Amino acid sequence: MNGLNKSKLPHIGTNIFSKMSLMSAQFNAINLSQGYPDFDTDPELINLSKKYLNLGFHQYAPMQGVLKLRKAISEKHFQLYGKYYDEEEEITITSGATQAIFTTISAFINKDDEVIIFSPSYDCYEPAVTLNKGKSIFIELESPNFKVDWQKVELSISSKTKMIIINNPHNPSGSIFSHQDLLDLEIIAEKYNLLVLSDEVYEHLVYDGKSHFSVCQYANLFKRSIATFSFGKTFHITGWRLGYVLAPKDLMIEIRKVHQFNVFSCNHPLQLAISDYIEKEENFLKLNDFYQQKRDLFLEIIAASRFESVPCKGTYFQLLNYSKISKISDNEMAENLIKINGVASIPVSGFSFSKIDEKNLRFCFAKKEETLKRAGDILIKI
Ligand code: PMP
Ligand code: GLN
Repeated sequence: MNGLNKSKLPHIGTNIFSKMSLMSAQFNAINLSQGYPDFDTDPELINLSKKYLNLGFHQYAPMQGVLKLRKAISEKHFQLYGKYYDEEEEITITSGATQAIFTTISAFINKDDEVIIFSPSYDCYEPAVTLNKGKSIFIELESPNFKVDWQKVELSISSKTKMIIINNPHNPSGSIFSHQDLLDLEIIAEKYNLLVLSDEVYEHLVYDGKSHFSVCQYANLFKRSIATFSFGKTFHITGWRLGYVLAPKDLMIEIRKVHQFNVFSCNHPLQLAISDYIEKEENFLKLNDFYQQKRDLFLEIIAASRFESVPCKGTYFQLLNYSKISKISDNEMAENLIKINGVASIPVSGFSFSKIDEKNLRFCFAKKEETLKRAGDILIKI
């Protein structure tokens, strides 16, 4: 093609989730790799979506999203975090958190702007920074606790730093930020005038009686933060591709300028279905108990194995360390587990920009009890 197809992302191949799910299907393995539930969503939500399809909502939704849904989100955030986001100007419905993140980074990152990203990290942040000609500055978090060292963060800030991306609760490690972490972040972001992109898609999946702290609860963070959320995670509907972004008005104006040209608006009947369903608070408040039971079941079975674990504090991912079983790389271990044993996981080096391999595999426990038991029975024999 005479260079016409010169890649803007030469370092990127097919993402690790697609790769591992494909391999899992090829070898007919139990798929605990890609993060999605293997159980059905609530029939009530499915019936609501049928209702709005039958009522004829087949044309564009408003660019910002269905107003009733934005109002419900505003109320939910006020109830959970005591912070009011204006439904007209500070809430936009997106096609999943992925689009919210891409749109936000595109709205604010210019050539040579530096963006701090913790590694291991979810995979969509760095490519968005690169496509906008920014520079990702990675800070490595160490196994098993993956705690942020805020002094290290401060040392990595330069005159070019524009944004810091946090993901709380954290995929893949399952760690969560404490109140003190958010206070430290607030001081740094204020001191160096940084934007904060806070990926909070697992806000309801926090265990052991702990609470989720959102950036909106801290006045000096709220004014400079963009927070992203996913209905896929909250209502077991990752395939519906709906989520939302929250930001103060002056930031949201810029986000919407990009949003209107990369999707314009999102699925109309499904937004309406969610706008009814979200009104019942137990539909999201029950999530942490629901998933904690799954995490505990998985850990109970694994306790009899040679894998080592630090219980996941948030998200629906449990890391297992296999140093006592083998010295091979985590990629090789994950492949062997699929091909020889029939269980699929994700090697954590796949989330690390420097490919750091601490012999950890990520297992998704958003699965039926029976799936977790079948996988666990295999893992304890390894
Ligand atoms: N952020 C994190 C940390 C995730 O794990 C995911 C995966 N779903 C996303 C964002 C993307 O969410 P969505 O499926 O709503 O695009
Ligand atoms: N968030 C999911 C995970 O971490 C996967 C999303 C995707 O496949 N893009 O596994």
